[in-house]
Amino acid sequence: MMQEKALVLFSGGQDSATCLAWALDRFAQVETIGFDYGQRHKIELEVRDAFRTALLAARPEWGAKLGTDHLIRLDALGQVSDTALTSDATIAFNADGLPNTFVPGRNIIFLSFAAAIAYRRGIKHIVGGMCETDYSGYPDCRDDTIKALQVALNLGMDRRFVLETPLMWLDKAATWRLAESLGGAALVEALLEHTHSCYLGDRSERHPWGYGCGTCPACDLRAKGWAAYAAPETR
Ligand code: ZN
Repeated sequence: MMQEKALVLFSGGQDSATCLAWALDRFAQVETIGFDYGQRHKIELEVRDAFRTALLAARPEWGAKLGTDHLIRLDALGQVSDTALTSDATIAFNADGLPNTFVPGRNIIFLSFAAAIAYRRGIKHIVGGMCETDYSGYPDCRDDTIKALQVALNLGMDRRFVLETPLMWLDKAATWRLAESLGGAALVEALLEHTHSCYLGDRSERHPWGYGCGTCPACDLRAKGWAAYAAPETR
């Protein structure tokens, strides 16, 4: 595995940034891919470069492994979906219990494009931050979805891609512990300062867990995970 290459779905959020560190710890060469799909806030995309820089400051030896960043425009995804992530709708929960931040097909489309790039670049491992332990209930984050997609992509492209989801069975506190084990306090600080998860794109205040509005579902998950990581005895 140490001789092989990986492509990391890197959105600029905490989970995908942790996956990038995980991949750099394991693989010989790592490339990143991000998607501009008409999301309401571009802040996640804007913090990506700053995080890559901070990551290499935390672990300079990873500099030789970190390669190309592919930024793919997928405007069509915004056109076909009517969600609170791609329009000004208020974040709320649908009748089926899913938040209206769910963009139908998003991860399926992202992984399909990632596989097309991996095919061209000779990359075997495709890494994503999908997680069904502490999550918003998005059905395209489920382990079964990812496994089914791996089969479909391998059949459809005649390759042996491995879709890696290192966070799938971790809660958010465990994700922080993973980051600490990979890059110490410097990586934890880089994640706090340079990743963004807030659905409202708010970076006006730095909380103990990073930037965000503090009230949207993404901030709520991030704050609770940080609290459980930072002071486990009080949980
Ligand atoms: Zn928020």
